[in-house]
Amino acid sequence: MSETVSARRLSTHILWLMSLFALMAFGGMVLVVFEAVRNTDQGALERQRQLVRHAIDEQVQRLSQDQESVVFWEIAVLRAKTQDAAWLQKNVGMWMREYFRHDRTLILTPTDEPLMSVRTDSFYGGTDGDLIAAFSPRLHALRRQVASAREAEAIAERDIMLIANRPAVVSAMPFLPHSDRIEVAPGQEHILLSVQYLDSAFLERLRNAYLLADARIRLTDTSLGPETALPISGRDGTPLAYLVWNPALPGHELMRAVLSPAVLAGALVLLLFGLYARQVYRSSAALEASEVHARHLAFHDTLTGLPNRSHLLRRLDTLLPLSAAQGAALIFVDLDRFKEVNDTYGHQSGDEVIRQFAARAISHLPLSDTFCRLGGDEFAFLLCGISSDAQIAEFCERIVECAVASFHVPGGKAKVDVSAGYAWLGPALSRSEVLRRADAALYAAKREGGGCYRAFSPQTDAAMRARRQIEEELAAALEKGGEGLCVYYQPVIVSRSGAIVGVEALVRWQHPRLGFVAPALFVPVAEETGLIAKLDAWVLATACRAALSWPGLTLAVNISPRSFRNAGLSRRVLKTLLAERFEPARLEIEVTESALLDEKSGAACELERLRERGVRVAIDDFGTGYSSLARLRTLKADKVKVDRSFVQNMGETAETTAIVDAVIDLGHALGLTVTAEGVESELQREYLRSAGCDQMQGFFFSAPVPAEEISQMLADAVHARARGVA
Ligand code: C2E
Ligand code: MG
Ligand code: MG
Repeated sequence: MSETVSARRLSTHILWLMSLFALMAFGGMVLVVFEAVRNTDQGALERQRQLVRHAIDEQVQRLSQDQESVVFWEIAVLRAKTQDAAWLQKNVGMWMREYFRHDRTLILTPTDEPLMSVRTDSFYGGTDGDLIAAFSPRLHALRRQVASAREAEAIAERDIMLIANRPAVVSAMPFLPHSDRIEVAPGQEHILLSVQYLDSAFLERLRNAYLLADARIRLTDTSLGPETALPISGRDGTPLAYLVWNPALPGHELMRAVLSPAVLAGALVLLLFGLYARQVYRSSAALEASEVHARHLAFHDTLTGLPNRSHLLRRLDTLLPLSAAQGAALIFVDLDRFKEVNDTYGHQSGDEVIRQFAARAISHLPLSDTFCRLGGDEFAFLLCGISSDAQIAEFCERIVECAVASFHVPGGKAKVDVSAGYAWLGPALSRSEVLRRADAALYAAKREGGGCYRAFSPQTDAAMRARRQIEEELAAALEKGGEGLCVYYQPVIVSRSGAIVGVEALVRWQHPRLGFVAPALFVPVAEETGLIAKLDAWVLATACRAALSWPGLTLAVNISPRSFRNAGLSRRVLKTLLAERFEPARLEIEVTESALLDEKSGAACELERLRERGVRVAIDDFGTGYSSLARLRTLKADKVKVDRSFVQNMGETAETTAIVDAVIDLGHALGLTVTAEGVESELQREYLRSAGCDQMQGFFFSAPVPAEEISQMLADAVHARARGVA
């Protein structure tokens, strides 16, 4: 499970990445917005500061411009020259105060003595002399300028000063006539000195013109938080006071306006993202669960929940390289006669036996490693950390013991045995070699009758190889139209007259290497490998052809239950009969009880179809199968053949004789012909005849023989009869 990065973990990674990207994008956006807000606000602030600077400069300029309205007024120049202080006070001082709202107006004599003074700044305790002294550097500069000027022009000296701790604009201009009518000797100029405080009037103008609602003047920088302070400096650049105001910040205002909706939208986006992430997480969790389930299915068997063949193969791959350090063995297990449980009780009961066996194995065995179901009735164990055959032997005994008690299934108790075969793992062995060895060992246990276990050995290997070889050679023989195969025929005798009434076709193989091979050796191999259907078809066609020369005799042909697994058997049989021009009424199909009981194979239906066309059905080897005598009633057949094991034990035990009697009676009661197989002695023949058995077969009359001998037998019988008549 850990080999792949799980879907959930992957999607969690993706989700984390997405969240990270989303956060980064969000953070980036916030940064950009804040930067834009900051830049906008900075620009706005800078513009406001420039406007304020301009307003102060304008204030300074205006003071001089106000002065210009009187300093070039010839009458005023004359009155100054004549030192008419009263006139000057009334027409200049008062004019400047009333009209221009100058806070202080002085007219200075050429020696910088105050000729006239008008003031509103009563708060100012200082004298005119103090003011003149404070402004004297500028006054000297002004007089120097006047001296060097060639004609009357607007010469002014301006500055901003602190007067009584208030910033004030101070401007000085000389009285100069515009014409030659009045003469002012150089150095004799009077000077107009004006003062205007940067006070409430100035602030009022700032508020109205520049919308600085809370503008105020402070001697120190008292700006707090978002407030800004602009220094008001004199000509030498030293800050005298500060203009403080709360600047308008459009960025902040915009942000304040959009912040709530933006936060709301952000929260909504986050919520949607969260919901989406949760959905993705849930879907990936569901996907992972189904993936885990699919992976479980891929490596587990649905019937028992045990690991399956794929799992075993993976485990083997892991264990093989380690098997040098720690001993490990693979045990193959197979249930004997399991097919009969299926045939008798149905597949559901078969499944139940598989489940119960698996449960017993789990609870009774010390499982040190892996217990798998390979399919059908096959299981496998992987044992690790073992060092001796004795340990495995003990384990295998316990496996075999698991099936000692019968299994309770719907309809009765099923009895099966268990065969096991094991092989050691080795680092030099490939996975397929270990599997092959365990298989060979299991095959050896099966060949010895089942219900036991065997270890892999060179001998078991040889037997397995021989089986493989038979399989391959039989397939090749059938491919070549039955090359090396032939059919023998055993006569069937009427009990009362001793006359031959029919023959049973029995296949033989003249093997190029092994010589004459009996069906007991190769028919089971053909059944296991599925070659049986081809073999039965070949025997049927061959026997029909031979039996055409024995008119009046029935031909019995054995059909394996496995042949019914290929659908359409009745159609194939009838086709052969048609092709060989053989009368259906002369053919008898021999099947074992299990074939008739196997509902799934559809054998009963196929046989019924053949019976409808006149073909007869015989139940072969009756009594060796799984069903009870009572089942005979339900089987649709024309004949029952008592198995030779009963016939041969007849004289020895009372039970067997009773069974033979019972089969004969029951067969007759059901309207069936009863044939006894394996009659070898006069005694057996006599008993069976007296018991009412209709027909007999056995070495006592004749072993199976080639077709020519049957023809000879029939010819002899004709001669004998002819002689008898004669
Ligand atoms: P089966 O159908 O029960 O055939 C009777 C078997 O008993 C034959 O063995 C026969 O040779 C043997 N036998 C007959 N009389 C006596 C006797 O007095 N004493 C003893 N000890 N044996 C006797 P065979 O030919 O070896 O065949 C064995 C089984 O192989 C058959 O049993 C049948 O089940 C199967 N078989 C033979 N030929 C075919 C075939 O063409 N198709 C299929 N599906 N199975 C076949
Ligand atoms: Mg037979
Ligand atoms: Mg038989």
